[in-house]
Amino acid sequence: MATTDKKEDASSQPGEPVRFQAEIRQLLDILVHSLYTRREVFLRELISNASDALNRMQFEMLTNTDVVDAQVAAAVRITVDEAGKRLTISDTGVGMSRAELVENLGTIARSGAQRFIENAKETGTDASDIIGRFGVGFYSVFMIAEEVRVTSRSFRPTDEAACWVCTGGESFTLESSDRRQRGTLIEIKLREEAAEFADAFRITQIVKQHSDYVPFPIYVGKQTDKPGEFKIANQQTALWRQPARDLKAGEYVEFFRQLTFSGGDPLLHIHYVADAPVQIYSILFVPAKAGRDLFTARYESGIRLHARKILIEENCRSLVPEYLRFLQGVVDCEDLPLNVARENVQSSPLLGKISRVLGRKVVDEFKKLAVNDGDKYLGFWNEFGIFLKEGAATDPEAAGDLMELLRFRSTLDDAVTALAEYVLRIKDERKEIYYLLADDLRSATRSPHLDYFKRNGYEVLLLVEPVDAFLMANVREFDGHKLVNVASGDMNLPPAAEAEDATVEEPLAGRDLARLIVKFKSQLGTRVADVRDTDRLSGSPVRLVDSGGAPGREVQRAMRVMDREYEQPKMVLELNARHPLLRSLVHLPEPSEILDLCVEQLFDAALLLEGLHPDPAGIVPRLQDLMQAAVGKAAPAA
Ligand code: ADP
Ligand code: MG
Repeated sequence: MATTDKKEDASSQPGEPVRFQAEIRQLLDILVHSLYTRREVFLRELISNASDALNRMQFEMLTNTDVVDAQVAAAVRITVDEAGKRLTISDTGVGMSRAELVENLGTIARSGAQRFIENAKETGTDASDIIGRFGVGFYSVFMIAEEVRVTSRSFRPTDEAACWVCTGGESFTLESSDRRQRGTLIEIKLREEAAEFADAFRITQIVKQHSDYVPFPIYVGKQTDKPGEFKIANQQTALWRQPARDLKAGEYVEFFRQLTFSGGDPLLHIHYVADAPVQIYSILFVPAKAGRDLFTARYESGIRLHARKILIEENCRSLVPEYLRFLQGVVDCEDLPLNVARENVQSSPLLGKISRVLGRKVVDEFKKLAVNDGDKYLGFWNEFGIFLKEGAATDPEAAGDLMELLRFRSTLDDAVTALAEYVLRIKDERKEIYYLLADDLRSATRSPHLDYFKRNGYEVLLLVEPVDAFLMANVREFDGHKLVNVASGDMNLPPAAEAEDATVEEPLAGRDLARLIVKFKSQLGTRVADVRDTDRLSGSPVRLVDSGGAPGREVQRAMRVMDREYEQPKMVLELNARHPLLRSLVHLPEPSEILDLCVEQLFDAALLLEGLHPDPAGIVPRLQDLMQAAVGKAAPAA
C-alpha cells in the first residue's frame, strides 16, 4: 500500500490512503489495543465536538448570513441501529471542508497527543476518561469502533462536502461526498464487544450522565424511528442562569465534571450573579488540585466566556485577576457586544470590570470559608495558598484583603497561623510581627537569627517559599503592626532576657575581643563587609547580617530567585562574645592552624545557614583538616 508521510491537501485522489501524523498513529495504537473500562466517554467527546461546531456556527452567524442552511436549527442527532451494530452522530455546526478534515482529523501535529500518550502510560486504563483534556478527544471513538466515516459539509457555500474513512490503522482515506446539509455526520460501525452502544436507552443514559448541560438539544432515536419520534436526552440548561437556591450540590458537581472532562469533585463552587457594575451570571469552581501548567506563563485558563449564552471564548484569561488563574467555570455576560471580534474580547474594558467584581467576590468567599470551616480552608490553602501569596505580592489593590487569608508556619508549633492569630498572641505592647526568610523549614529552625527571639519567647514566622520574599518586599504591615525581618542587623530591641541557666559565661571583652575581631577581619578580608560583636546571639557562635547600605533581605532574596547570576552584597559577620567556642579560640597561641581553620569554618557555616553558600560540598575537605588537626598530633605513630 502506498502510504506517505507528507501532508496531504484537498487535491489528494479519492480513496488514496493518507498516513496519520506520527503521534496520532501512536495514540490510535494505544486506543485500539487497550481495554478501557469507561469506554462510553467517546460519546461525550463526539458530542462536545458537535457542540463546539454549533457554538462556532452561532458565533459566525452573528456577522455572516451568507452560509449554507442559514435557517436550520442547531441540534445534535444520535441514531442507533441495533441490528446493524451501528451508531451515527450528526450536527448542524460549522462542518469541515475536505482540507479541514485532513488537517483536523489526522495530519496536524497536536501537542496533546504526546502528553496523552505519556499520561496513558502512567495511569493505564483510566486515561481514556481524560482524553478530552488533551485536545485529541475525537480519537477516543476508536475505543469502540471498527470503522468510522466522517462526512462533512462546511458552512462556506463554495466548499464541497467530503468523507473521511478510517479503520483505526496507520492511515485514513478520503472520498468525495454529495452531502448537501451543513454540518458533520459521524457513522460508526461498532466493534463486536461494543455492541451495547447500539441501544437507544443506553445512549440516552450516557448523554444524561456526561452531556446533560450541553446547550443544544441532543436527539436520540432508532434508525426505524421517524424524525418526530426522536427524543431530546439532555436538559440543555445554562445552570449559571438558574437561581442558586434551586440547585442541588450534586448538580454543580456534575456540571464541573462535564466542564472539565474529569471524574473528580471540585473543592468549592461559587455561584454568583451580579447586576452592577456589570451584569453577569457565573459559576466558578476551585478544583481539587492545581494543574502544573498554572506555574508556567503559558497556562490555559479554565474559564469560559459566554455573551448572552453564546460561547465567545473557551479559555478566557482576563475574567479573573491573574493570581486566581486556578479557577474554572463559566462567566456569562449580558453587556458584551455580540459582534465584537474574538481577538478584541480580551482587551475589552468590560473584562477588566468583570475581573475586579469576580476577584472581590471570590476573595470574600474564601474569607467566609476560612471562618466557617477552618479545616476545609486549610485543605484549600495547602493546594492554592501560593497563589494568594502571589496576589498579595503583586496586586496592591487586593493585598489588604488577601493578607487576612494568608497562613504561615511559625516557631510556635507545627500548625500554620494567620497574621491575626499571631497578633492576638503578642503579650506585650509590641507593635511588630517578626519573620524569618529561609530556604526551607529545617534551615529556618536552625537559624542563628532566632536565638534572641527564642530566648525572649517571641514568636517568629518562618517564610520558606520563594514567593515569600516578593510578598514581604511589597507588604510591610498588617493591622497596624510592622512586619520585621529578624535577620536585619539594625533592629532596636530590648536587651535579651537573662538566660535561665546561670552557667552562661562572661562575655569576652576588651583586648581579647578586639584581638579576635582583628583576626577574623584579616583572615576573611574582602569576603565580609565588617566583623563586630553582638548580644543578640545565644546558642550560635556567629551570624551574618546585612551591612548598612545593602538592599533589604527580601529584595536580595527576590533577586536571587529571579537571577542566578545575582551577586550577593557583602555581609557583616557578627560574633557572639559569650560563646564558649569563641572564648576558647582566644586562648590558642598564634599562629595556629586550628584557629585559621575555625575562622574559615565559622564563616562557611554562617553562609550555609543563610542558604548563601556557593559550594557546600567544598566544606568537607576542611572539616577533615580540622579533625586531623584535632587528633593528628596526639595520634600515636603506627
Ligand atoms: P478538540 O475538540 O479538543 O479540538 P478533537 O480531537 O476532539 O480535539 O477534535 C479535533 C478537531 O476536529 C476539532 O478541533 C475540530 O476542528 C474538528 N472537529 C471534530 N469534530 C467536529 C465536528 N463535529 N464538526 C466540526 N469540526 C469537528
Ligand atoms: Mg473535542
